[in-house]
Amino acid sequence: MQTTIRSAISFTGVGLHSGKPARLTICPASAEYGVWFKRTDIAVGDAMVPARWDATEHTPLCTRICNRLGVSVSTIEHVMAALAGCGIHNALIEIDGPEVPILDGSAAPFVRGILARGVRELNADVRVIEILKKVEVKTDQGWARLEPGSGGLTMDFHINFADRAIGTQNKSLDMRNGTFVRELCDSRTFCRQADVDAMREKGLALGGTMDNAVVVDGDRVLSPGGLRHKDEAVRHKMLDALGDLALAGAPILGHYTGHKAGHTLTNLLLRELFNTPGAYRMTLVSQETAARLPGAGVERAEIPAVA
Ligand SMILES: [Zn+2]
Repeated sequence: MQTTIRSAISFTGVGLHSGKPARLTICPASAEYGVWFKRTDIAVGDAMVPARWDATEHTPLCTRICNRLGVSVSTIEHVMAALAGCGIHNALIEIDGPEVPILDGSAAPFVRGILARGVRELNADVRVIEILKKVEVKTDQGWARLEPGSGGLTMDFHINFADRAIGTQNKSLDMRNGTFVRELCDSRTFCRQADVDAMREKGLALGGTMDNAVVVDGDRVLSPGGLRHKDEAVRHKMLDALGDLALAGAPILGHYTGHKAGHTLTNLLLRELFNTPGAYRMTLVSQETAARLPGAGVERAEIPAVA
């Protein structure tokens, strides 16, 4: 069945890139609603912004969505990943500023809040997007691919950084049930010290601190406390990918591969998918397959103790 959050929950913090404070509230929504953001600080015009692949703006360092009047919400990927990873299909997200609070840089605070409130089943069948044909996109940064899978969503990710504190990392996961909550949700945003000054000059990462991002320099992790997982970086990239894939509007049945991919590539991949005839179909799934979707039957006890 389709789901929503049982009751509203709020989060307060600064945006990673804008440095601006915001209060975000995840509210219950009815079946077939999908996920929408509402800018409560916008009094005139249309404050509603759909969390959909075709409402994104080109932003390599985060995912920003925008409505036809130019009202936008930035850095939505971690809260989107939390909703997808907890199996929430419908929600209204109210926010009183332009950027989602970064909190600890991971999706764990959102997951903890969502699972504390609980998941409510709605009286409508869940529809999924079944991948029927391989689609792939490439840029000079890397590539990303969706192809038919064996039921459920599986993901492979590869990253390769010159900084030895990250280096080469590969990870493969079957995203069924609580995998996202157990394996990915607590992994934090990371960046290289060398990139911090360049980002700040462009007016980005203004809200970034050692407490909400893992900062590395060569073979050293500069953030106090070090890493939550040895391969925290690739886990975070998979978290981002799940959040960006959630903009498809329904759970995906198939296999995703990201090779040095990021927000731009995952979004281009969804555009390719929806513009390729015969590449997918919207379908109802058996109870057995529905029970394997990300978030199905997930429990609070699965949240990692490190977060
Ligand atoms: Zn991220």
